[in-house]
Amino acid sequence: MERWRRQLQQSVTRVDELAKRFDVPEETLRRVEQKFKIKITPYYLSLIEKKDDPIYKQVVPDPRELENHGLYLDPLAEDADSPVNNIVHRYPDRCLFLISPVCGSYCRFCTRKRKVGDPQKINRNFIDEGVDYIRTHAEIRDVILSGGDPLMLSDAKLESILQKIRAIPHVQIIRIGTRMPCFLPHRITLKLVRMLKKYHPLYMNVHFNHPRELTPLAVKALKRLADAGIPLGNQTVLLKGVNDDPQVMKTLMQKLLQARVRPYYIYQADMVFGTEHFRTRVEKGLEIIQALRGWTSGLGVPHFVIDAPGGGGKIPLLPEYVQSINDNEIVMRNYAGKIFRYTQPKATLPESTVHGYTEEGDSFLADPEEIVLMDGLGY
Ligand SMILES: *Cc1c(COP(=O)(O)O)cnc(C)c1O
Ligand code: SF4
Repeated sequence: MERWRRQLQQSVTRVDELAKRFDVPEETLRRVEQKFKIKITPYYLSLIEKKDDPIYKQVVPDPRELENHGLYLDPLAEDADSPVNNIVHRYPDRCLFLISPVCGSYCRFCTRKRKVGDPQKINRNFIDEGVDYIRTHAEIRDVILSGGDPLMLSDAKLESILQKIRAIPHVQIIRIGTRMPCFLPHRITLKLVRMLKKYHPLYMNVHFNHPRELTPLAVKALKRLADAGIPLGNQTVLLKGVNDDPQVMKTLMQKLLQARVRPYYIYQADMVFGTEHFRTRVEKGLEIIQALRGWTSGLGVPHFVIDAPGGGGKIPLLPEYVQSINDNEIVMRNYAGKIFRYTQPKATLPESTVHGYTEEGDSFLADPEEIVLMDGLGY
C-alpha cells in the first residue's frame, strides 16, 4: 500500500483517542462529532506541540462549535449558485467543480462544514453531469477542482476527470485547490506529478495557515509540484489564535516564497455556523496587509478578501493609502507613513497633438518639422 494511503488509514477519527491524548471531555467531543466529522492524519497530529497551539486549534474539535451566534450553514450561498450538483457557478468565466467529498484532515473552520465528509452531499455519481455542464457552457474558461480535497481521489480517478475536462476546447486553464501538501505531503508522489503535468496549463492552490506547517516534508512536496511546472498559489484563512499576528503571517509568507509558492489570498474567516471562536475583527486583516506591503517582498503580499456573505464573491480590502484625490493630484502615504504627491495629467491637451518635453518637464506643442530636426540632433 502507498504510504499516503496507510497514513489515511491510521488517521485519528475517534473521539476517545483524542479525549485521552489531550485530556478533554469525551462527551463534548462526541456531541461535536455528530455535527462535523473529525479526522487528523498522524503526520499533522505529530506537528501539535501542545494543546491549543495553532496546529491543534485547526483540527481538534472544540465544544464552541456547537454554539449558535447567528452564523450560517452556507455563508456564501453556494447552494443558490449551483446550477447542477457539484458545480458552483458564480463568476462570468469560471466555476468550482466539487469532485471529492473527503479531506486529508478536517479543518474545524471549514466554510463547507455542512458538506465535507458527507458523500451524499458531494456525490461522486454526479461528476459526469458536472462535466456536461462545463461542456455546454462555453463561457467557462477556468475550472477549479475542489471539494473536499481533489487529491483524496486515486490518481486514476483524478486523471479520468482531468482528461474529460481537458477534452473541452473552451476550458483554458484547470486549477486544483488542495490542502494535501499541508495535511499529508506523502500524497505528492512522483507518480502523481507525472500524471498531473500531462494536463497543463494546470495551476494549484494550496492551503497553509501557519509557518510551522511548512515542514521539510511539506517543502519537498511543494518542490515536486513546482518542478512539474505547476504554478503554486496559497490561500490562508485568517484565524484567531492561529495566525492573527502580523509577525506570524510575515514569516508564513516568506517561507511560502522559499518553497516556491506565491501567496494568493488571505481570507477573512467566513461566517460559518460553529466558528465564531475563530473569527477576528476585519481590522486585523488590514493590519496584516499593512505590515507586509513594503516591509517584505511584494511577491509575498497576498490579496486580503472577504468572501461576501450571501454570494457576492470575493471583495478585496486594502489599508487606506490614499489621503485625497482630485483633478490635479493625489496625495498618498507610503508603507512607512510618509506623504507623497503625484500630479494628474493635464486634461486639456487635444488628443491629436504630438508633444515632447522640455528639460523642465513642461509639455510643449511640436510641429512635424521640429521633430525631424530633433531626430537629427540625436534626440
Ligand atoms: C473563489 C471562487 C472562485 C475563484 O475566484 P478567483 O478570484 O478567480 O480565484 C470561483 N468561483 C467561486 C464560487 C469561488 O468561490
Ligand atoms: S481541507 Fe479545505 S475543504 Fe477540507 S475541511 Fe479543510 S478547508 Fe474544508
